[in-house]
Amino acid sequence: MMEQLRLQLPDWIEASRIYAEKGQVAHYIPELAKAPGDALGIVAMGPDGETATAGDADLPFTMQSISKVFTLLLAFMDNGEEGVFAKVGMEPTGDDFNSMLKLELVEPGKPFNPLINAGAIAVTSLIHGATPEARTGRIMQFLREAAGGADLAYNEAVYRSESASAHRNRSLAYFLKDNEVLDAATDVEEVLDVYFKHCAVEITCAQLARMALLLACGGTDPLTGVQLVPRRYVQIAKTFMITCGMYNASGEFAIRAGIPAKSGVSGGILALVPGKLGIGIIGPALGEKGNSTGGVHLLETMSETFDWSIF
Ligand code: GLU
Repeated sequence: MMEQLRLQLPDWIEASRIYAEKGQVAHYIPELAKAPGDALGIVAMGPDGETATAGDADLPFTMQSISKVFTLLLAFMDNGEEGVFAKVGMEPTGDDFNSMLKLELVEPGKPFNPLINAGAIAVTSLIHGATPEARTGRIMQFLREAAGGADLAYNEAVYRSESASAHRNRSLAYFLKDNEVLDAATDVEEVLDVYFKHCAVEITCAQLARMALLLACGGTDPLTGVQLVPRRYVQIAKTFMITCGMYNASGEFAIRAGIPAKSGVSGGILALVPGKLGIGIIGPALGEKGNSTGGVHLLETMSETFDWSIF
């Protein structure tokens, strides 16, 4: 498969790039608006570490919502399933990723799932550590390990840009505090600060592919043999990726591509083929549901060709 990917990916990238023209880079975090809308790149990595790379794969980008998968895993390791599901539910919302609607409409006011912003902010509040710096440090360390020891850091400009413009996330977080999803001891601004930082972690397609491969292999890094995450937690995270990883287009993506994936507003997508492949994609132009238009088209093409659907 890797050989065929190497041969075909350059053509598939060019075919999918046309779809990027139909999308728009995110503007609500001002710094993200600087990304090149016509870029599209991919790295696919197999369990032996072999890769296929094509397009603008060297373009660095921030993880944004993709980081939520990893904070969820860390929160499970810190609190167990019960501790996490006391604060977030297991269902997709059908609403926008930053919506407040169901927090008030549906009792008991806890976020429907850990991948929408409200749920991810609640999950971030569960990460252990004596100070916000310690909690950010533990998340950074976990991301580095998940990326095979990569030297990751958060992008200061993107972090500042989001922090300065995050009126909606602030309102969500204060609402959670009022509903006691963020508990009495939790400082809302401190939680948000950790959240903005993990969303701003800068990464490349190759690093993302390595992280995806860890999930594809059930939490054990196939290149080192080290089990970083219990298999059960990875199983739950992958289930959320299927049901809500691609925003409100998760159903459509499950039908068309049928593989676990998580996208972010930077245009990144982490996707995987269980046991076989980790995939990292960047394509900053987004469609109306918030997913990389070029990236989604590319994944659909690949899945159809190789019959990857898990269903
Ligand atoms: N940092 C972004 C936010 O909170 C992440 C959103 C996303 O990638 O979906 O709005």
